[in-house]
Amino acid sequence: MTSLTRREFGTLLAAAPLAAASRMSERPGPQPGTPAKEWARVKARPFPLRQVRLLSGTCYTLQDRNRAYLHTLESDRLLHTFRLTAGLPSTARQLGGWERPDIELRGHFLGHYLSACGLMYSSTGDELLKSKARAIVAELGKCQRANGGGWLAAFPPAFMQRLTERLPVWAPFYTLHKIMAGLLDVHEHCGDAPALEIALGMAAWIRRWAGAIGDDAMARILDVEYGGMNEVLYDLYAVTGDRAHAELAHRFDQARLFDALADGRDELQGLHSNTTLAKVVGAARRYELFGEERDRRLVEFFWRQVALHRSYCTGGTSNAQRWRTGPGILARELGSTTQECCCTYNMLKLTRHVFGWNPEAVYADHHERAFLNGIIGTMNPADGMTTFYVPLESGYWKLFGLPFDSFWCCTGTGVESFAKLGDSLFFHDESSLYVNLFVPARLQWPEKGLVLRMETRFPDEEAIHLEFQCEKPVTLRLRVRVPYWATRGIAVKVNGEKQEAAAPPTSYWTLERTWKTGDRVDVSLPMGLHVHPMPDDPALQAFMYGPLVLAGALGNEGLTYEMMYADPVNARRGEGMRGQPIPAPELVAPSADPAGWIRPVGDASIDRRDVEIVAGSPGDWTRSVDSGLAFHVTQQSRPLSLVPLSRIFGQRYAVYWRVKQA
Ligand SMILES: [Zn+2]
Repeated sequence: MTSLTRREFGTLLAAAPLAAASRMSERPGPQPGTPAKEWARVKARPFPLRQVRLLSGTCYTLQDRNRAYLHTLESDRLLHTFRLTAGLPSTARQLGGWERPDIELRGHFLGHYLSACGLMYSSTGDELLKSKARAIVAELGKCQRANGGGWLAAFPPAFMQRLTERLPVWAPFYTLHKIMAGLLDVHEHCGDAPALEIALGMAAWIRRWAGAIGDDAMARILDVEYGGMNEVLYDLYAVTGDRAHAELAHRFDQARLFDALADGRDELQGLHSNTTLAKVVGAARRYELFGEERDRRLVEFFWRQVALHRSYCTGGTSNAQRWRTGPGILARELGSTTQECCCTYNMLKLTRHVFGWNPEAVYADHHERAFLNGIIGTMNPADGMTTFYVPLESGYWKLFGLPFDSFWCCTGTGVESFAKLGDSLFFHDESSLYVNLFVPARLQWPEKGLVLRMETRFPDEEAIHLEFQCEKPVTLRLRVRVPYWATRGIAVKVNGEKQEAAAPPTSYWTLERTWKTGDRVDVSLPMGLHVHPMPDDPALQAFMYGPLVLAGALGNEGLTYEMMYADPVNARRGEGMRGQPIPAPELVAPSADPAGWIRPVGDASIDRRDVEIVAGSPGDWTRSVDSGLAFHVTQQSRPLSLVPLSRIFGQRYAVYWRVKQA
């Protein structure tokens, strides 16, 4: 059976009480072979990555580290288990970690790898990575043909049988989603037609398989992590206009989860966070394609619950991969496995969608918080390796993966995150340009005939400089985000002239004018120290400087090199911490305003020699000191230094402190 019949689809809809489904059949379909129309009203869109180039700075450096890592991974090694599964010869040395031939999730990383190559090509124009991705796709095509034309994975279809028989198996649909998403990314970013054909073959296989599964059985199968199967199939519908893909996607919309969210019920306690996040990203894509308000409502409710009630000061969410408490209960949720990086990756994807529907600064504020504290800083700039978690229990350290022996889920989303660092910096509509994140970059907007250059050392400095180059004068509303932390007001100059800048925090400073080449906007966003208390335990506090979460440098006592990198032998549990945390001291706050007792290290009143510092990365430390981003906690029983969490490597740290008022 190649597709669901109309009657079968009708039965499916009756079983799944999703009002949106009716809208799906109401909407006139596109011409076969043409992209589907998006029925939702999207008010602002991010620019395609190829129109944004990072300029020299932290993001550029990390992008480059990631690019180097992508180059070092050998195609034959990545393809090894795909070839073996297809019965094709392979003599490549097997990869380790979650890519080992005896690990059931094997093959997931190749999907991420293809996505990362596609994204990196758009971000940098790296032709070698484009060719490499296209060559891998060609090899995957051979594997698919050897498998009979549809099935493509690094494990046999027998894994799917285990799903239907409710036998233990590690998330086969999760892996299929990564591969399909990788193929679609190579199609989109590298213009590779075979990649789309292979994805279509996989979708056809899945449609045949799902056609034999009843709705009750499917509902049980959806209890096993399935990544963003709904998202990638909606994306396939968007590209091809073939309604069958949307119908298949809908079978992966989990009614139980979506019904609760649409009714405004937070039943997230106990759920696996990243599993759930990926499903809701699928709902967001569905809303854009079919415009059903119910989908928007459930996504926005979910976003608010996670961003505003289930996230730490870092903008990250989850503990031991789950939401283990009700909303707003976080004080006892600090551990060595807080905030899985995949969750931050998926939450930023979701934020990008939600901002487009309603371009308000609250969404971009969250993006900045999670980006600066939960993405940047999860890569070790020394070697390009990334973390699985960001531990938030005091006294732990960052644990990094190994280049060829980890391949965690977060290694996969990591290579994607650091291949799209130029994403979501700028958004636009017909007549507005949004500057959401402050990263040195050059934006090309050919439809308007303009290039915008953003130069800044933010957050090492408070100044952001925007300069226009226009083919001819262009009338445009410039909207610069005023962050939540900019409570001391902002200052703006246009071509050197001071402007009225009475924009409150979490809003946009807006100026409509006709811009011409050489026009320059200088924005200053004064940063200050502020406290981020736990919602359910106000005496448990983190300290922030502007957008940056500060971490107490607790030294590297007892830390060995082996403890800071993954266990290469235990593939399945290699991400576990080997070693115990040390307690952080209780702080005594002489005054409520932290600026009174947490002083910049550069402060003339403090002798730098008196500050005990054990720096993991001396370069970063020096940079933090020089730019005023390093602090000394004064009037405590022992010397304590704070630096941005994103810059602490190779030592133990504390983010949340028990603070006693003096
Ligand atoms: Zn992960």
